[in-house]
Amino acid sequence: MLQLHLFTDQLCRLHSPGMGHPERPERLDAVTAVFDTCDGKPGVTIDPGRDATDAEITAVHTAALLERVRDSQQREIAVFDADTVANSHSCAAALRAAGSACAAVDALFSGQAQRAFVGTRPPGHHAEADRPMGFCFFNNAAIAAEHARRHHGVSRIAIVDWDVHHGNGTMHSFYADPGVLYVSLHQFPLFPGSGRLEETGSAEGTGYTLNLPLAGGRSDNEYLFLFDTLVVPLLDRYQPQLVLISAGFDAHERDPLGSMLLSDAAFAAMTERLTGVAERHAEGRVAALLEGGYSLYGLQLGIAATIDGLRGAQRAAPADARQSATATGGSHTIVDSAVEQIAERAADTLSRQWGRFTV
Ligand SMILES: [Zn+2]
Repeated sequence: MLQLHLFTDQLCRLHSPGMGHPERPERLDAVTAVFDTCDGKPGVTIDPGRDATDAEITAVHTAALLERVRDSQQREIAVFDADTVANSHSCAAALRAAGSACAAVDALFSGQAQRAFVGTRPPGHHAEADRPMGFCFFNNAAIAAEHARRHHGVSRIAIVDWDVHHGNGTMHSFYADPGVLYVSLHQFPLFPGSGRLEETGSAEGTGYTLNLPLAGGRSDNEYLFLFDTLVVPLLDRYQPQLVLISAGFDAHERDPLGSMLLSDAAFAAMTERLTGVAERHAEGRVAALLEGGYSLYGLQLGIAATIDGLRGAQRAAPADARQSATATGGSHTIVDSAVEQIAERAADTLSRQWGRFTV
């Protein structure tokens, strides 16, 4: 039976960047509410995770950054930038988030689990090597990837980031590195401003970054069109030995920060496609790591859908895809021309390195 490990701990509720901040403690309650519904289901284990070691953090970040975050424990409030604020518990929460991402990787490679969802906060994908940024202190996805490489001998890891914001920190961590393929679908222009199509990697890492910058208002069918024409075919060529998902839920239609229109069914459908990739190349190993998502209800729906996708539970197909399947026998027809253009440009760029892509 498929084993799914769900990681969370109330320690991650104690981090608070202050009143009115969208990355608020109640987000962890949304995680807990979903995990409670999974508790006791066959194959599901709920795990409090563990703290990251200094070596795990400094595999991605500078020792100076770790010290700055650690020093914040002595203060009531430590302001790293206008968005990124710590209280005295934030360091502990951030260490638990990064360590649990590593624990998820360990569970997958020990064979204890084939799928994992890490429901921790603070998120990670904006954190750069030398500075916290955008609500993020340590880059959980980058730390998990580096941990997989150093401790489990993996040479090809894919990180797929569907958070509505571009994961600048993750991209920069592996920009010149073909050992990690980074794929991001994000709203553009939007914070942090990076993630243009032309950013494809550098040196030996050229071609190992795929950015799909999208105008707001994109729907399920458009995301799935991009998955089916570009993301999945690219992953199939790369043949990752581990699939990590930077699972933000701020592209959900209910989210107050993003303007995308994804229903929860889209998150299940994207997850199923990625578990398919993992089944073909990675012995089924997929870990989803929570990033953003600022509607508490949208977050809950998105997490539940992603967990369904990880478990292979059947859900209704997204409305748009169903409509298009009825009309055309399965092809994607309801796609904005700007999305088609992005897809064609991305296909051209990818074709130079990876062989022909057809949109
Ligand atoms: Zn985000």
